[in-house]
Amino acid sequence: MNYKTHVNGGILLGLYMICRVPKQSVLTSGLLLGGAIVGSLFPDIDHKNSYIGQKAKSVSKAINKFAGHRKLFHAPLIYLFLYSIGIGMIKEKLGLVAINGVFIGIFSHLILDSFTIGGLPWFYPFSKKKVSLAKIKTNGKFEDILCGILTCINIVIILDLLHITSIFTFTQI
Ligand SMILES: [Zn+2]
Repeated sequence: MNYKTHVNGGILLGLYMICRVPKQSVLTSGLLLGGAIVGSLFPDIDHKNSYIGQKAKSVSKAINKFAGHRKLFHAPLIYLFLYSIGIGMIKEKLGLVAINGVFIGIFSHLILDSFTIGGLPWFYPFSKKKVSLAKIKTNGKFEDILCGILTCINIVIILDLLHITSIFTFTQI
């Protein structure tokens, strides 16, 4: 999937989580959403032609050489492990919000990549087999449609949160 779809996926999951935890301050909501956006782009650091890979070309090239594309940096079990360590180490509230945001974004990225032809190595490092739940081609027309739908849903959620509309039930906080 391209970065636009990933960012929209990260925003969607971030907004959903904001709705799940009522009475959050603007700061914590912003931090969670910012973290989710960064996290939604992060796994593609293992590909030098990705949006984030182009921003950090030399880092991306080195990672790709050492870890390959859609392997270590697209492995849910690895992120689960890192998340447990992060949550255990950070005690400060805002730090926890930020780390939750980043991992929410990463999770959205992994889910979306699972719907591509290439699939995702869900059980890496135990198995290299990639699980593909659909045959969406990166930058293809189905991805454009998906990205459009995600964008529309995000706009509606934001309008709901601003009390301009009241379309979704989970936004009624
Ligand atoms: Zn990816």
